[in-house]
Amino acid sequence: MEQRLRDEARALLEQGKVDYIVGFEPGSLKFTITPLITRDKEEVERLVINPFMVNNLANFLTELKGRVGIVAKGCDSRSIVSLIQDNKVAREDVVILGIPCPGIIDLNKVERLISKDRDELGDIIREGDKVVITADGKRSEFPITEVLYDNCLGCELPTPQEYDILLGEPTLPVTDNSTSQAKIEQLKGMSPQPRWEFWNNELSRCIRCYACRNVCPACFCQRCFVEETEPQWLMPVPRWQDNLMFQVIRNIHVAGRCTDCGECERACPVNIPLRSLTKEMYDIVSELFHFKAGMDKDAAPLMTHYEQEEAEDFIR
Ligand code: SF4
Ligand code: SF4
Ligand code: SF4
Repeated sequence: MEQRLRDEARALLEQGKVDYIVGFEPGSLKFTITPLITRDKEEVERLVINPFMVNNLANFLTELKGRVGIVAKGCDSRSIVSLIQDNKVAREDVVILGIPCPGIIDLNKVERLISKDRDELGDIIREGDKVVITADGKRSEFPITEVLYDNCLGCELPTPQEYDILLGEPTLPVTDNSTSQAKIEQLKGMSPQPRWEFWNNELSRCIRCYACRNVCPACFCQRCFVEETEPQWLMPVPRWQDNLMFQVIRNIHVAGRCTDCGECERACPVNIPLRSLTKEMYDIVSELFHFKAGMDKDAAPLMTHYEQEEAEDFIR
């Protein structure tokens, strides 16, 4: 699949069908990747496909001018479609190099499972529904469900539905819904006061670095409300109350655009469980409006239309 990706990317550049290729290359740290954005047909040899390619590359589409060939997992392709629905990206300006995605490995889960830092590990290899981890010359096998990101364990569409070139056979989701939803269900089971205290504690740790916003393809406003001064929606100092308002408003803004790609939670440097908010909003949108982001490029975006006879019982 990797060699085919490189060949297709090279051909797209050589034939002048795209101005850029956006994909993944090896990162500087062990088991990491980093986005590769290139116009150079020799550099496409650095492209990789592996179980660590976390980033949702759709985020770059609103920044790049010209035609882009972009590597997309299932959730990324839905983000691209969502951007097309919002007229942020023109379909004809994108060549989607779709990757049937068997799920991405969460290195934090690996570290907890094996009680070692990632630098101490020899190798992490996926073998079908197992992961083989080598440390101190010892080989240990675990079910793959123990190391995939929570959002991957609840993934609905791992194979891109919208693509120009599909780099492999369609794949089925690796599903473990109870693990995927565990943190969210735990919160839902709390009465309001402990839940309030939970978020008070969690959001008190927020340093307002905006990594969660900056990695999110659904957050594409040229000027974010947090930077407005008239009116000033939030104090720039990261008090927990303002941090809470930031997340509440951000979640409303991405409602109907969020594809549960999990990037906001992964990018948070202080490990705030942001997916407990974004996935809950995803499910609320699905339940109330029968709408899932990025499923149909010709459908109107969720918040841009309504029917006069729409039920209003969602106003709680
Ligand atoms: S959510 Fe699905 S498509 Fe996205 S990285 Fe996880 S398994 Fe792949
Ligand atoms: S990434 Fe985490 S710390 Fe940074 S603004 Fe978002 S919630 Fe706060
Ligand atoms: S809100 Fe988070 S999970 Fe949803 S699209 Fe943005 S980065 Fe992905």
